[in-house]
Amino acid sequence: MKNTIRTAVILVCLIFGSTLASAQSANEIYQVSTINALLQGVYDGEITFKELKQHGDFGIGTFNALDGEMIGLGGQFYQVKSSGQVLPVNNSIKTPFAAVLYFKPQRVAELGAVQDYDQLQESLNSIINDQNYFYAIRIDGLFTYVKTRSVPAQSKPYRPLTEVTKTQAVFEFENVRGTVIGFWCPKYVNGVNVPGYHLHFISDDRKQGGHLLAISLLSGKVQIARITNFRMVLPGAEDFRNAALGKDYSKDLQTAEQ
Ligand code: ZN
Repeated sequence: MKNTIRTAVILVCLIFGSTLASAQSANEIYQVSTINALLQGVYDGEITFKELKQHGDFGIGTFNALDGEMIGLGGQFYQVKSSGQVLPVNNSIKTPFAAVLYFKPQRVAELGAVQDYDQLQESLNSIINDQNYFYAIRIDGLFTYVKTRSVPAQSKPYRPLTEVTKTQAVFEFENVRGTVIGFWCPKYVNGVNVPGYHLHFISDDRKQGGHLLAISLLSGKVQIARITNFRMVLPGAEDFRNAALGKDYSKDLQTAEQ
């Protein structure tokens, strides 16, 4: 009898212990570096995708040397190259900037026809109806028009992001089924992440995607998760340490995001 109890106690400890070790709970953002670091050209990857995947199955970001746009969806991670090619991400690749989480939506809504990005944002605003929390967003639908961009891989010395985006590749898709994923962040994240909406797109056939610039939608389903946990990992590299990250780069960000 005593042995049975002891075994039970040990089992409970093991289960509890393993829960503590995995640590990352649902809807907790795990972010690598800061958006100002990316704007300042800190493009050296810090965390491998093998590690990033341990902190989420959903997210957006970029790759070592700014080699394209990242989309993570249902545990699968994709790289949209500046050629337009969409590739599954190799675990050994590193990211200099990414935000991921284990997506567990609490709100689901049907979206009717949406004419443009502004109208999409208004529709999402009416669902979110809040200014102070973070939100993860997923929209599955039939998109009549999608315009995305990707950025070419850089070599050192790295140029600031506003310089690189001058050479971005732009893609347009029509009547495509796919998924928009990303985040809405409150204004106070300025410098850390992107205030407002930051969305990426990937088609159902996983052949088209990128950082979202324009969109119109016939119909879709939106899923939203409110986030109250935010975890950030900062690079140890010298270029991060030496970058001037305390300035207000919001104008640069606006230029780089569009
Ligand atoms: Zn983006």
